[in-house]
Amino acid sequence: MGTAVTMDKLVALCKNRGIIFPGSEIYGGMGNTWDYGPVGVEIKNNVKRVWWKRFVQESDNSFGVDAAILMNSRVWEASGHTTSFSDPKMDCKKCKTRHRADNLIEMHSKGKVDPDLMTNEEMEQYIREKEVHCPICGGFDWTNIRTFNLMFETSRGVTDESQNKIYLRPETAQGEFINFLNVQRTTRAKVPFGIAQIGKAFRNEITPGNFIFRTIEFEQMEHQWFCKEGTDSQFYEEYKARAMQFLLDLGIKREHLRFHDHEKLAHYAKAACDIQYLYPMGWSELNGIHNRTDYDLSRHQEYSGKSLTYVDPIDGSRYLPYVIEYSIGADRLMLALLAEAYEEETLEGGDVRGVMRFHPAIAAYKAAVLPLQKNIAEPAKALLQKLKKKFSVSYDEAGSIGKRYRRQDEIGTPFCITTDFETLENGTVTVRERDSMQQLRLPMDEIEAFLAEKTAF
Ligand code: ATP
Repeated sequence: MGTAVTMDKLVALCKNRGIIFPGSEIYGGMGNTWDYGPVGVEIKNNVKRVWWKRFVQESDNSFGVDAAILMNSRVWEASGHTTSFSDPKMDCKKCKTRHRADNLIEMHSKGKVDPDLMTNEEMEQYIREKEVHCPICGGFDWTNIRTFNLMFETSRGVTDESQNKIYLRPETAQGEFINFLNVQRTTRAKVPFGIAQIGKAFRNEITPGNFIFRTIEFEQMEHQWFCKEGTDSQFYEEYKARAMQFLLDLGIKREHLRFHDHEKLAHYAKAACDIQYLYPMGWSELNGIHNRTDYDLSRHQEYSGKSLTYVDPIDGSRYLPYVIEYSIGADRLMLALLAEAYEEETLEGGDVRGVMRFHPAIAAYKAAVLPLQKNIAEPAKALLQKLKKKFSVSYDEAGSIGKRYRRQDEIGTPFCITTDFETLENGTVTVRERDSMQQLRLPMDEIEAFLAEKTAF
């Protein structure tokens, strides 16, 4: 089970099972964009729901926001994105494809060399000395490194002359920082407290085509914890542990996860690490945890001219809180969960079944209702209507029961509920569990409570 699946296989099965389709497919596609299908959108919504439950609903002193994607351009000047949010790119002169120099080095050294510690000149030197070839055409004829800002630009204005350049946000974090005092005042929160947000971010990334790992449009789930200087290191450790526990609770194996401390820190950061997952293409970042000090609030205070100082209601002290940032991509987590869940299981008798062993809370459908015979579909339909009010449930009456079970296994539905003649006699149904394939007989009116218990997160 787990990361034995190749990326090509995952892409193909996601397409065939209605999980993820290539973006703009009928027009020949649009590089690095993907559309979530009927099954995929349910899974992704569940990913976001369980994250929100864990980090907002169940967290002490945490509050959500949903900030605008388009923000005043001064936000990105204050955050430093307009000047320094860029990647080192090189072009292959032979096949005219563009690559990130840091990615080429990471791939070539199989993660042993950390390009974050290198200057552009050092990266160029490494690529030339080690003869790193183009991963697309195999050529070895590179341009020098050039840097490109990753932010997508657009414009705002009523006439062509009055247009102002604005940006699609490259991260959600700034929406939390600029609303720090709005949230604090309206919730009367005392430091330490957290602000969370789930939303789209956009980056003009050059990508080596690792499916939804790196896309130009993606969703981030971010939590900023505002705390007093001096308590920050302890909270940083706490958030590392919480971030890891969340992934383990979703069923990701510990041996497929590892911490990776950043050796080269941004000038404002006190500590930073990633949690990496063993994706089909190798170890790569799944989420980041950063101790950002009071950098963001102080920059926004300086650029906006508005005080963002917190006043402690107990001792009256005034200060800008430090921030512990925990940031995870919903799509990257989805990719990790897909790779982790995938299994081809050889059954007794030699048959192979494809099964997605998702945590039930993540599965697109909590159950599938399957009438054993079409001519007695009434109780199945009644059960479906009842369950639909509480859960996302699938219904299937086409084909043999074995085939119908397989279809549900392939998209990870944890329970199949079959109605038959006995249902008409005594109101019981058969419940078949996805992983063990064990069956049990339950009264129909107990199914709702059964599913609520078994699919909780
Ligand atoms: P990377 O080094 O992989 O480019 P990053 O360090 O730039 O990532 P952050 O800016 O810290 O990433 O963003 C937080 C999280 O958002 C990442 O851990 C990742 O899960 C997700 N993320 C970032 N960029 C992308 C992208 N282009 N596509 C999908 N998810 C992304």
